[in-house]
Amino acid sequence: MDKVTGLTVGILSVLLALHGAAVAQPDAMERIDAIQILSEKDNQQALNQLQAMEPALGPTTPYAVRREYLNALMTVQVDAAKMEAAEGTVATLLKLAQENKDGIGVVLATSKAASIMALSGKTDAAITQLIAIEATALKTADAHALWRFYSTFGSAQLTVGRFETALESTLKSLQYSKERPSHAKTSHLTSLNLLGNVYMAMTNWDKALQVIEEGLTLADAVGSSKLKGTLHLNQGASFASLGRAKESVAAYEKALLIGRESGLVGLQGTALNNIGDSYLISKDYPKAELFARQAMAKFREAGELGGVATAQSNIGFALMGQGKIREGDAEVRAAIRFSQDSGAKTDQEAILGELGRMYEQVGLYREAVATIREQQALTAQLFRADREKSVATLQAQFDAVQRQKQIELLARENSLKDAEISNQRLQQIITLLGAVVTVMAGIFVFLLYRRVRKTNLKLREANKQLEFHAVRDPLTGLYNRRSFFDLMNGRTSNPNDGRREEDNPDGLMILDIDHFKNINDTLGHAGGDAVLVEISKRLRATVRDTDMVMRWGGEEFLIFSPRANAAHLKNLAQRVLHAIGATPIAVGDKMMPITVTGGFLSLPFSGLSEVDCNWEKAMQIADMALYLGKVNGRNRAYGLNRLLAPVEQVMPVLEHDITAALKAGMVELVEVIGPVTDAQTLVPPLESAG
Ligand code: GH3
Ligand code: MG
Ligand code: MG
Repeated sequence: MDKVTGLTVGILSVLLALHGAAVAQPDAMERIDAIQILSEKDNQQALNQLQAMEPALGPTTPYAVRREYLNALMTVQVDAAKMEAAEGTVATLLKLAQENKDGIGVVLATSKAASIMALSGKTDAAITQLIAIEATALKTADAHALWRFYSTFGSAQLTVGRFETALESTLKSLQYSKERPSHAKTSHLTSLNLLGNVYMAMTNWDKALQVIEEGLTLADAVGSSKLKGTLHLNQGASFASLGRAKESVAAYEKALLIGRESGLVGLQGTALNNIGDSYLISKDYPKAELFARQAMAKFREAGELGGVATAQSNIGFALMGQGKIREGDAEVRAAIRFSQDSGAKTDQEAILGELGRMYEQVGLYREAVATIREQQALTAQLFRADREKSVATLQAQFDAVQRQKQIELLARENSLKDAEISNQRLQQIITLLGAVVTVMAGIFVFLLYRRVRKTNLKLREANKQLEFHAVRDPLTGLYNRRSFFDLMNGRTSNPNDGRREEDNPDGLMILDIDHFKNINDTLGHAGGDAVLVEISKRLRATVRDTDMVMRWGGEEFLIFSPRANAAHLKNLAQRVLHAIGATPIAVGDKMMPITVTGGFLSLPFSGLSEVDCNWEKAMQIADMALYLGKVNGRNRAYGLNRLLAPVEQVMPVLEHDITAALKAGMVELVEVIGPVTDAQTLVPPLESAG
């Protein structure tokens, strides 16, 4: 909560502040300057006055004046949360700069366009735009252009969690701010504010507070209430992170007041949200909910989607705190999805951390572990990009690992202890009762006995938990290869349990993703992993509840389908090929058409005893059927129905060369073709043999 807020505050404030710094053009622009000063106090009035000015500006108006006018208009529009209007204005500004071959103007307009994009959650696109003009910016050698470029770039990098780059850019912007001929103080203040944000993101609170203090003194000198408000927000967030709750709320209230006085809706939203945060921390959930909802309304009004998501996650936590777990969980998850979609990884990571702690608090240990894992993965990702890790961060990561271990242990210990204790107690009672009232208490004892059984079941459940990790694949959560060996070994040691009659066999289907190397090459290994996870999901959703889906190898899967006759297996193959191949898989912004090839058969195979064809042999044959599918064009599955010749003749051939067995008409083959996709061109179906 606090961390989320810190960052949200940080980024919003910097972006807002970047718009606040005016371009100085003496003489002709006095009117516009006056309006800009007015905008600090009354943004709406400033907007009205600027709009009233527009008809007087025609094609004959000097470029410098038009540029200054559009700049002022855009700033006021952003502050009034009219994002689309602001985007329109900045586009006009950019066009004007290009027409006038004004390199500085192009850099300024592009930077502003980027910060507006970032404010609307399109950070990656903003970064791409900025990278494209870095060379142009350097070529201008203009302190103003370079200052704005590096502060916008730093702020965007901060949003996506590249702290080192953010710090580097911010320090550059601080340097250029001093070189600006005019507005040196305002730009210096803006850069200081950004620097404070970077330190906050790096959890270096003391350093952040120091920079903020410097900024507040400067803000008084400059008379910028807007930056002052955002600095107070940051101050509050830093205090909160240091556990100095009272100072924190006092700082937020100062920011809220400034926000109200100057009509800065986004500032009000953040201040309200942060006050709500402090109630979350003190576990006053109804109050936290109240403030988070007020904050959400303000963010909506301001059109700040990132803020809306932050407030939404806080509403979720407040609801969970009040025992409305599901409702709250849904809100938090929606906020996480938003952060993920907008690439705000630091926000996403912080919300996940909070969610993990909240799960733990309400006793949902399994969810807590899963969520903290998710968070850690993201933390690792964020910090891998930033080699220079602060000790504080390492400490935090270490704490998180310890915490996770503790949760796991606690969960197991608790259920084991629970079960043991109640078992012991109940057994003592039974013995006692049994001795005193033999017959009369019979019914009673029986009831108690049932409870003992229940606690025994609990024990078993706890043990199952312990085994969970040994039988699951960590990436996909599917059963792993080992679990299948266990299943099959149980089967051979007990071959005559009557379940595997010929008319009631089990089904085995092995699947291999087509051209997976290309997928890895196109998307990278992590992208490939995402595909594996999605395919696992689809497979699980496609099979029956009683079926078992396993990750057989890297990109190979195995489905074990109990009591599946030939017709059912064929149908299953059709469903699987369709589930994977019919809808492309979304990875990042790419849609990948992906198909699989499969081989399947029944076990026992063709009525053979498991001595003549055990499961290992059956797997080998299924694998060969799969290979046949690959050779014949992929995106299809081949099933072997039954033998058409005596087993002694067929097996030696089939085991080594399925094609030969088919040619010789020794086995009956089923072919299932997958959906037509862009992934491959289908080759004609195989000429049926046998
Ligand atoms: P084909 O369909 O014809 O079999 O082509 P293919 O490219 O899929 O070939 P193959 O099955 O031999 O390739 C397997 C590739 O899968 C090679 C390996 O780099 C990749 N792979 C294996 N395990 C993983 C994993 O866990 N994650 C990712 N991303 N890739 C993996
Ligand atoms: Mg393979
Ligand atoms: Mg493959």
